[in-house]
Formats: sequence, C-alpha cells, structure tokens
Amino acid sequence: MIDLNKPVQYVKNVGPTRVKLLNKLNINTLQDLISYFPRNYEDRGIAKRLSDCQDGEDALIKGVAITKVQEIFARRLKMYKLVIRDGQTPCTIIWYNQSYLKNVIKIGHTYNFYGKVEIKLGRYEMKSPIFDESGENKNTGKIIPIYPLTYGISQNTIRKIIENGVNEAYGNLEETLPDYILEQFKLMDINNAMKKVHFPENKSDFIKARYRLVFEELLSFQLALLKIKENYKNDELGIEFNKNVKMSDVINTLPFKLTKAQLRVLEEIDLDMETSKPMNRLLQGDVGSGKTIVSEIAAYKAVKSGYQAAILAPTAILATQHFENFQKTLNQFGIKIELLISAITKKKKQELKERLKNGEIDILIGTHAMLEDDVEFNNLGLVVTDEQHRFGVKQRAKISAKGNNPDVLVMSATPIPRTLALILYGDLDISIIDELPPNRKKIDTFAVGKDMENRINAFITKQIKQGRQCYIVCPLVEENEEMDLKSVTELAEKLQTETFPQFRVEFLHGKMKPKEKDEIMLKFKNKEIDILISTTVIEVGVDVPNANIMVIENAERFGLAQLHQLRGRVGRGEYQSYCILKFEGKGKVVQERMKIMCQTNDGFIISEKDLELRGSGDFFGTAQHRNSRNENSKFI
Ligand code: ADP
Ligand code: MG
Repeated sequence: MIDLNKPVQYVKNVGPTRVKLLNKLNINTLQDLISYFPRNYEDRGIAKRLSDCQDGEDALIKGVAITKVQEIFARRLKMYKLVIRDGQTPCTIIWYNQSYLKNVIKIGHTYNFYGKVEIKLGRYEMKSPIFDESGENKNTGKIIPIYPLTYGISQNTIRKIIENGVNEAYGNLEETLPDYILEQFKLMDINNAMKKVHFPENKSDFIKARYRLVFEELLSFQLALLKIKENYKNDELGIEFNKNVKMSDVINTLPFKLTKAQLRVLEEIDLDMETSKPMNRLLQGDVGSGKTIVSEIAAYKAVKSGYQAAILAPTAILATQHFENFQKTLNQFGIKIELLISAITKKKKQELKERLKNGEIDILIGTHAMLEDDVEFNNLGLVVTDEQHRFGVKQRAKISAKGNNPDVLVMSATPIPRTLALILYGDLDISIIDELPPNRKKIDTFAVGKDMENRINAFITKQIKQGRQCYIVCPLVEENEEMDLKSVTELAEKLQTETFPQFRVEFLHGKMKPKEKDEIMLKFKNKEIDILISTTVIEVGVDVPNANIMVIENAERFGLAQLHQLRGRVGRGEYQSYCILKFEGKGKVVQERMKIMCQTNDGFIISEKDLELRGSGDFFGTAQHRNSRNENSKFI
C-alpha cells in the first residue's frame, strides 16, 4: 500500500519552489495532489476538418506543413508563419517570438494543432496553437485536463506533477466501497476512477470515473448526516409540549386565512412538538409564502406550554421586523416579547438578560448578539432560526445549547427541489410551504437589453413620482470587494448626477459596517430614499412594501435562484410590482434563463429549471469549492 500522507515534495518534478506554490493551493500530501480535480477538460482528441470549423472555435486540426516556418518582423515582435494544408484547405499558423520553431517543423510532415480557428475573409488562421507531430500525442491527440487556479504554476506543469502523482498511486489505492455496492451500481474501481478523472481516454471514461467519485462523496455525506440524525433521535429526550395548547387559538384571531400549505406544515410542527423527540425541522418556503406566522404560532405553543422561545435572525432589521410582527399576533395573549440587538443600550441589555434568566420574558427575538455566553434563558424550549443559510450548524448548536434539548425550527427561503433538500439537509426533517397566499399580484418581469435603457429610466421616474421606490442591484465583479465597491459607487454617481438628479439615490456595499447598512436600509424603509443601489447585500427578507421596482444590472451573471431571491424584495405591498432584468449576451442558455424568469414566479419551478440548465453543481457550492478546498464537497 502507498502512503497517501506522504508530503507532496517527494513526488517527481516537485522541487522546493513548487512545493510552496502547491501548498498555497492546499496541496500538501500525495492524497491532496491526486484529489486536485480538473475544473474542465479540453477535448484535443479528435481532429476536426477545417472546413467544418466555425470562426472562433477551439479545435484540433491535422495538417501537412507545406512551407517552412518563416520569420517576419512585425513592429517589435518577431512573427513566425507557417502554412499547412488540411486536405485541400490551407491554413496559416502564426507564432510570436519562438524562433526555435524554425528548426522543429519540417515540410511534408503532419502535425496536430490545437487552438482557436479564425476565419478572415474565407481564409483560415490559427495563432499560437499548441502542437505535436502527428502520432506523438504529447499535448494533443487526447483529452487534456484543465486545473483550477494555479497561481504561478502553469497548466502544463501542474498536469505533469499530477500525472506523476497519479501514476505513483495507481494500482496502490485501497478500495473504499464494498464489492456489493460497486457491483450493484456498476461503479468503476477507485484506482481507475482516480486515474481517469484526471486523464480520461474518452468521454465515457470520464463520465464513469466522475460518477463513481460523486457517488462516493454523496454516500459518505448522507451517511454522516444520517448518523447525526440518529444521534438526535437516540440521545436524550426532548420536550413534550402541552397537547392542550391549541394552535387554532391563534389561527382564529388572524386577519387572514392560512393557506393549505401553512396549515399542513403547522400540523407537522405541532406533532413534532407534542412528541418527546426533539424537533429538528427545516421549513422551506418561497419568499412571501408566510413562514413568519408559522413560527409565531409555534412560539405560542411553546410559551403556553410553559417554555421560552428564541427567534434568531441574521440582521437587526429583520429581527426588528419579526419583533413587530410577533407583537401584533401574540400581545393579545399576554405573551412578553423582547428584542435583543447590538444597537440597544448596555443598561437595557443588562435588564433584558436579567428578566430572561428569571423567566419574565417569553419570547426573545434577536441577532447574533443573542448567542453570547451571558445570554441565559430560564427555560428555553423552542429555537427558530430564520434565513438559515446565514447561520452555520455551529451557531444553531450554540443557541440550542442554551436550553435542554429544545425543539429547533430552521426557516429558509431558498427553494430547492425536495430530492436535493433531502441530500443537503439529511439531518433535518423537511416541511415545505409550496403555495403563496391568495391575491398576490404576479411580479411583472421583463428581460431587456441596453437599447431599452431610456425607456426603463422613464418608467422608473414615473413610478417614483407616484410615490414608489426602486432597488437597483449590480453584480459582484469577481469576488473582489474593491472592484465591487467601484462598480456600485460608479453607478451611484452616474445615477445621482446624470440619470436621476431629482431623486434621492443612495447605495449599499459589502464593505460597510452592519450598522451603516442597517441605517441605510432603515432610511429606505422610512421612504427617505427613492432609489437604493447595492450589490447582493440587500438584506434577505426585508419588507419594504412601498418599493415596487427591482432592477438587476447584468442579470446574466446571477444564478436563477439568486435572481428569484432578489425579485422577492418587491411585490410585498398593494402595488403592482416589476422586476427588470438587464442582460447582455445572446447565448442560448442566457436567453433560456431570462425566459424562465419572465414566465414564472414560482421558486420551486425556477430551482428545478436551474438544476436542469446547469446541473446540481451550484447547489453543492462548486464555486465555493474552487476557492476554498476545505469545504465539504471535494469533487462535485
Ligand atoms: P416569508 O415566508 O418570505 O418570510 P412572510 O412571513 O414575511 O414571508 O409573509 C409575507 C407577508 O404575507 C406578511 O405580510 C404576512 O403577514 C402575509 N401572510 C402570511 N400568510 C398569509 C396568508 N395566509 N394570507 C395572507 N397573507 C399572509
Ligand atoms: Mg421571512
């Protein structure tokens, strides 16, 4: 057997300088090296006829050299020019500053060239292609893996190093899956999977190798989650809330009728609460589906059974919004509700903590401030966390630890298909609100190009003059806060001085302190701002019913699920609302995605389409994976 923990410096071709670069990529051992999977592949396997190539296409071309490599001076560059022929079709090949080529390429010999084919006035041309003499197959003639960001290491080098690592490991890797699973699911063995995921000989090789590795990763993920779930079940008992406390007592006082979906999930929650098993439930529902009221009713049940409830929200604004809503519904039952956010005075905070500990507060609503050690409950029975993706498992555990096995309800507005939810949240039971309250006006969505700019601006002007407000979201430029800030501030300046000088335009960006962000959001909520520009930091879940236009710049750069989330910021009041997706690009997928957004307001349909269009990768955090390789997902 091979020692996979062997430091990477002992792999062939890795010297002291390269070790440092590899370590930066989190490649420290042989195991890390062979698990550094390609982000993409270039099929340099099968040659294409020139005459079948489109302008701008990357292709492998096979041709006979019919001239020598000629040196040409173009300004300060030395250019090297070669003419080849693919059948009857000639093609000019150009390289820069590579004089050695004069001695390498010989008239009458056949070569493979891989690169971009350009067609200029009917003539074919390739610039700086990769090439091999036919039959040599060093850089062409096969499928070539492309690795993620390699800071200072070229693709060729990292490919060579990984190839050495893979060769060393091949045949020596211990099978991780039992035989019967390999057989039942027709999986490739670990040795071949590892080799072929890097160096597939053909597409089917790659598909089988990837399938096996993904299978293994999901299987272990699932098993881990099931284990956690088992622990919940078997460990200590949770609270049995009082069967005589009826949720219907609250439901009957509401100014609206609950939807069937809301009633169904309340029944599921009620049942969980009454049994001794601690509840660990994910409540999923589209934006605006009415999750808050569900948590209010659950909190009622907890309080009237003699326990306290904690409601954890990701931002002060959201916490404040919940605080107001909870009061509206529950004050009439004599339930004492308080708000704990970092903005309140020390004195008030101290007083809250005392009363909480004495059991004089029934429901505490707050932000991270609530997680601090000195916030102690008297008898915490129910924990609700809102907008779950903002809180990690650890934070959930931290707040739960303030009670004695309290029931936990996690609310999320990111709709994902049930099958996927089962995989990702295997440790939680799942309830879904798949229905919006009646009489919701559909948000009219338009996908527009640059040429519509003036009409859009005129439309926004008209709406603001009627008293409405508008959000404008621009995308993150790379994952770079400086650039991000620039894109927002530049747009803000243009809108403030040129486009909408008559309106109050403000902006939000990721570098602002939470307090500054909250202040701006609050001003917007209080109608002291007409147009709010921001990147995606617009707080999830914030209700500004008077805002009825959401403009999204460069909508093609957002995922569908994200577009849907952003769109959910409007359509929260009595006014007809609009979402304007400004996009660039004529690609088929872009068009298709814009079309879906215009056609439906249903988050579950959108997430399913999203899955179809780009595969499940994004749900498992592929993008994240590329940057930080320590996340859960190693492969997909
Ligand atoms: P989300 O699920 O996005 O958190 P909220 O709980 O904020 O949604 O609900 C959005 C709005 O819909 C709130 O103003 C809430 O009072 C209202 N609402 C909730 N349920 C119903 C219902 N069954 N009928 C009418 N309005 C409802
Ligand atoms: Mg909400």
